[in-house]
Amino acid sequence: MKLTTNPLEPLTVLPGTSALVLDSPHSGTLYPEDFGHAVALTVLRVAEDTGVEALWGFAPDIGATLVHASFPRSYIDANRALEDIDPLLLDAPWTGPLHDGPKVRLGKGLVWRLLDDGTPIYQRRLSPSEVTHRIDACWRPYHAALEAAIDTAVARHGYVIHLNCHSMPAVSAAYSTNHPGLRHADFVIGDRDGTTADPRLTRFVERFLLGHGYTVSVNHPYKGVEIVRRHGRPAEQRLSLQLEVNKRLYMDEQTLDRHEGFALAQAALRELAEALSGLDPRRLQDPGSVLADA
Ligand SMILES: [Zn+2]
Repeated sequence: MKLTTNPLEPLTVLPGTSALVLDSPHSGTLYPEDFGHAVALTVLRVAEDTGVEALWGFAPDIGATLVHASFPRSYIDANRALEDIDPLLLDAPWTGPLHDGPKVRLGKGLVWRLLDDGTPIYQRRLSPSEVTHRIDACWRPYHAALEAAIDTAVARHGYVIHLNCHSMPAVSAAYSTNHPGLRHADFVIGDRDGTTADPRLTRFVERFLLGHGYTVSVNHPYKGVEIVRRHGRPAEQRLSLQLEVNKRLYMDEQTLDRHEGFALAQAALRELAEALSGLDPRRLQDPGSVLADA
């Protein structure tokens, strides 16, 4: 099979100067010719975090950096570890390390086997070299660009606030999490149970969104995956949060078109990003309970 990803620019960086770095790993819509999927593109596109890079597109206007993927997450998922390989997808053994984690068991490893509703993406098996190509053409450049943006912010400011930006369906599908049928809150903040960011920052974002009338869940059912795990090192003042926006706030999940809520959601996110840009996380107050502060 001819591998044609290389001419594709795998990502875009909109550089900023502040200590706020945003990244959108799942909103890419450039489907490489060598994908070889069996499902219709309209079905495959449901896997996207469609429009998330546009939702946060104001980033350079407020001095923040935005890194966003061009490749679709169903081609290779930048929010998975390199060992999250699904052996059921391959036509030959994988020679590198393998990790049989929960995402792989859902058919949603580094390269997805199934869509959220359980539909198989391929009617074939992929060769290990095909997967290696996707890693080298997309996954590695994406993580390198994000790491460079984070390193630059830390060098300039002594810390970074990194928001890993996603969107989620209004209702969890059968294979999207281990909680099928769950009606998602407006926002889900993930810090992998306090390990990828200072809990005071998590609480700050939670309070901000609650204060704007949104419903918020923390670490459930999304606690953050590979990107915040890899780049969030709070002991080194590298604070990473995953933020899931409910798609119903800004788009029609059937047509993938933005709806009239987009501007409102974007205005709230811009306000949040501005608040985070002016925040030195080393000076945050201790987290109290939201109820005690109400
Ligand atoms: Zn996502």
